[in-house]
Amino acid sequence: MTEQIEYNRKIGIRGRYDIIVAGAGPAGICAAVAAARDGAKVALVERYGVIGGNLTAGYVGPILGMTGKGTMRDEMVRLLGVPENDMIGRTGKAHDFENAKLLLEEFVAAEANIDVFMQCGIVDVIKDGNRAGGVIAACNGTLFALTAAVVIDATGDAAVSALAGAEIAKGRDGDGLMQPVTLEFTIDGVDEDRGIVCIGDVDDVELNGERFLDYCKRLADEGKLPADLAAVRLHPTTVPGQRQVNTTQLCGVDITDVGQIFKADIELRRQIRLLVDFLREYVPGYENCRCTASGTTTGVRESRRVMGDYVLTGEDVEAGAKFEDAIVHDAEFIVDIHNPAGAGQAEAKIGWCRPYDIPYRCFLPRGIENLYVTGRCISGTHRAHASYRVMSICMAMGEAVGIAASMCAAAGCSPRELDVRALQSRMESKGIVLK
Ligand SMILES: Cc1cc2nc3c(=O)[nH]c(=O)nc-3n(C[C@H](O)[C@H](O)[C@H](O)COP(=O)(O)OP(=O)(O)OC[C@H]3O[C@@H](n4cnc5c(N)ncnc54)[C@H](O)[C@@H]3O)c2cc1C
Repeated sequence: MTEQIEYNRKIGIRGRYDIIVAGAGPAGICAAVAAARDGAKVALVERYGVIGGNLTAGYVGPILGMTGKGTMRDEMVRLLGVPENDMIGRTGKAHDFENAKLLLEEFVAAEANIDVFMQCGIVDVIKDGNRAGGVIAACNGTLFALTAAVVIDATGDAAVSALAGAEIAKGRDGDGLMQPVTLEFTIDGVDEDRGIVCIGDVDDVELNGERFLDYCKRLADEGKLPADLAAVRLHPTTVPGQRQVNTTQLCGVDITDVGQIFKADIELRRQIRLLVDFLREYVPGYENCRCTASGTTTGVRESRRVMGDYVLTGEDVEAGAKFEDAIVHDAEFIVDIHNPAGAGQAEAKIGWCRPYDIPYRCFLPRGIENLYVTGRCISGTHRAHASYRVMSICMAMGEAVGIAASMCAAAGCSPRELDVRALQSRMESKGIVLK
């Protein structure tokens, strides 16, 4: 944008808090609840009219990945009624998105210390020098300010960190491309006796003796399906006859560019229609399937990554790196890079990770005080992000940072001044396994 205007106005302070959590996705919800349980007064600010982020509004499921025992991830999975899944096995089922909307609201509402500001987009950060001290939010024609000792950016897109002037990275080395955007949708009417399940590129499930994904690729080569959509992922859900379809995709989109959002959404919604027709015609058991729901927002796998005091790397996650200042332990998921430039996976051989730790330093944006980042936009490389971005790991990250922030607020110290050993002891006292 080259043309600029300047505007100044007085804005009312709606509340003063110990902690502001920006964004109520899996990470933000866990951060807010963990902080409130530790006695902090918390404002949870969410731009949508529903909380849950990708877990509800994005229609993203199943909850994948794993962390060490005792985190809020285990509580969330139980709350959502999901059978305990292994992270890449065939048993993981998507949760019920509609139930999840109320379950999560009740989960948050159970904490008297949390004020939830829904339909409130954060549009600016209040700063004093390099210290974050609050946010400006907009709701239905009203701008208002919230102040806090500590701000937590759990917006997925690092919106708050960007507004605060943090150092941001995007995309892979070389061309800067990010993983494709996807609109997930739900179908019903699948004949369970014949309709297969395919969880993705690591799945060798067969259809009539042929690997299902090879079959889809062959049909794509014959022009029956756009080439980029050949990885037809059909996840089971907790409801028989239903599948969660994670297959639409558009490459080359930067969701932080406002001009690209509508174009992406309409293209992905057209792909839903096309995919349902494909399933009905070419996949046994799917003849009567129909789309019953889809994400209310384009699913974003990757956008801004905040650069912090440590940048977790692909090598770290593949080698199972351990850190003295670990606050997420035994995170586990593949390096799942949906091809930023075409169909399927970006890497011929999918990187398997060993259970790795995420250090406290990944949650501290460089050069900015009193601000944590958590969830998928923490400090890591494009390859590391492709592993820790899944929801189980984001939940554990949110909880860890929520506990840390409440300790900072209680002690009157900044996140960089916090004694990480004391934080680890506090987490262990709650049953969170850290080594
Ligand atoms: C298509 C797709 C498929 C995926 N598949 C899986 C899967 O099968 N299993 C899995 O575990 N993970 C999957 N993921 C990854 C996972 O969903 C996300 O990485 C995860 O939800 C990140 O959690 P989060 O809390 O960091 O962010 P989000 O879930 O993105 O939540 C961020 C929240 O912040 C809010 N917000 C953003 N900006 C503002 C603002 N300015 N003001 C106020 N609020 C704001 C958003 O509205 C949102 O509610 C998938 C992702 C996509 C896109």
